[in-house]
Amino acid sequence: MSEAKEYLANVRASLVKRDPNQPEFLEAVDNFFHTITPVLEKHPEYIQANLIERLIEPERAFQFRVPWVDDKGNVQVNRGFRVQFSAAIGPYKGGLRFHPSVNLSIVKFLGFEQIFKNSLTGLPIGGGKGGSDFNPKGKSDGEVMRFAQSFMTELQRHIGPDIDVPAGDIGVGGREIGYLYGQYRKIRGYQAGVLTGKGLSYGGSLARTEATGFGLLYFTQALLADQDESLDGKKIKVSGAGNVAIYAIQKAAELGATVLTASDSNGFVYDPNGIDYKIVQQIKEVERGRIKDYADRVDTAEYHEGSVWDFDLDYDIALPCATQNEIDGGRAARIAQNGATVVNCGSNMPCTPEAVEIFHKSDVLLGPAKAANAGGVAVSALEMSQNGERLSWTFEEVDQRLEKIMQNIYTESAEAAKQYGFGKDYLAGANIAGFKKVADAMLAQGV
Ligand code: GLU
Repeated sequence: MSEAKEYLANVRASLVKRDPNQPEFLEAVDNFFHTITPVLEKHPEYIQANLIERLIEPERAFQFRVPWVDDKGNVQVNRGFRVQFSAAIGPYKGGLRFHPSVNLSIVKFLGFEQIFKNSLTGLPIGGGKGGSDFNPKGKSDGEVMRFAQSFMTELQRHIGPDIDVPAGDIGVGGREIGYLYGQYRKIRGYQAGVLTGKGLSYGGSLARTEATGFGLLYFTQALLADQDESLDGKKIKVSGAGNVAIYAIQKAAELGATVLTASDSNGFVYDPNGIDYKIVQQIKEVERGRIKDYADRVDTAEYHEGSVWDFDLDYDIALPCATQNEIDGGRAARIAQNGATVVNCGSNMPCTPEAVEIFHKSDVLLGPAKAANAGGVAVSALEMSQNGERLSWTFEEVDQRLEKIMQNIYTESAEAAKQYGFGKDYLAGANIAGFKKVADAMLAQGV
């Protein structure tokens, strides 16, 4: 075993001992370890500085009580988290997720991924993540507001425009950011740069709402161009119907592709004529309804219960935009059998390790989340710049910068993969390119 392999095996063993019940975090660390061995072999100074053990330990992690009163007058208690993973290259930056599945393992996996994603954007932002096991589904506006206020009453102690800048993620959109920001302002006073994803009337950036979905398509465009292909005429399967999926559908159609599906946790809709993003947006963001309602409004669409990945279709590109581990080994094999040659991840870690292996064996090109969905956090960083300058850029200016950033992310990931002998393994390339900047910053700053 090489020195690098032995070092990583020891670090992993001590992690398993320390955190035996954090499967999602361990999965993210394993994905990372598989790909950085050659980097450590080339850079023994990283091992000497024990960089990896330092990197997988968050700089700080908070867990807190979030009490709030529901519409019936009952007192409810949820659990809040914020993990400040690494500020080596800039203030901690990353979303808040409100979903019943949220626990420390999930927040740590997301925070760990965020370090490399944020580094890949080329902008000065560190990695963090937070959230709560609060379930916004079925809650009234008043309940969401009281929960968000209580959550921020604690979180405000730990964040700030140059310290830690949260944003949205699953279950946290414009409405939630508004309530969180309002409470921060009440306690600490005006500080536009403390959150991103804000509304346009109070310091938000144009194109932030669209950024993750648009960025996913810009990344897809760059990846296809490198294979001498384009999006024109391509058939795409999308999972999800939230912020990422909606704007991915819009941009895909604008670039000449047809998106055949959209889904939520109950089922999916299939429309051979192409999904209309405006209808999905109306249902999910305005009415807060279910994707099933889409089929009631569009004659050519059919609704099916279950996962969109268990439904056979002839298509070219898969864009998972729902949640982690939505594609397991069986579903990956099916995606390859259906003829798809590209899978680009809009959601964070949508593919299990078995799925990743199947894609590699079947020559399906995989755009990992930390590269493919980095458009959201990239525009968050542009929102921070605008807040710092007290200026608002036009939609076109932000969108053009986003497109360039996504092209760079693709190029850097592809080049790093080639340089370290990983061929077209963009997961390895993104890990390596994202890691190198953070590692060099840590080395320069001492222990
Ligand atoms: N939640 C998004 C992500 O996973 C965006 C984070 C942000 O804008 O800070 O990257």
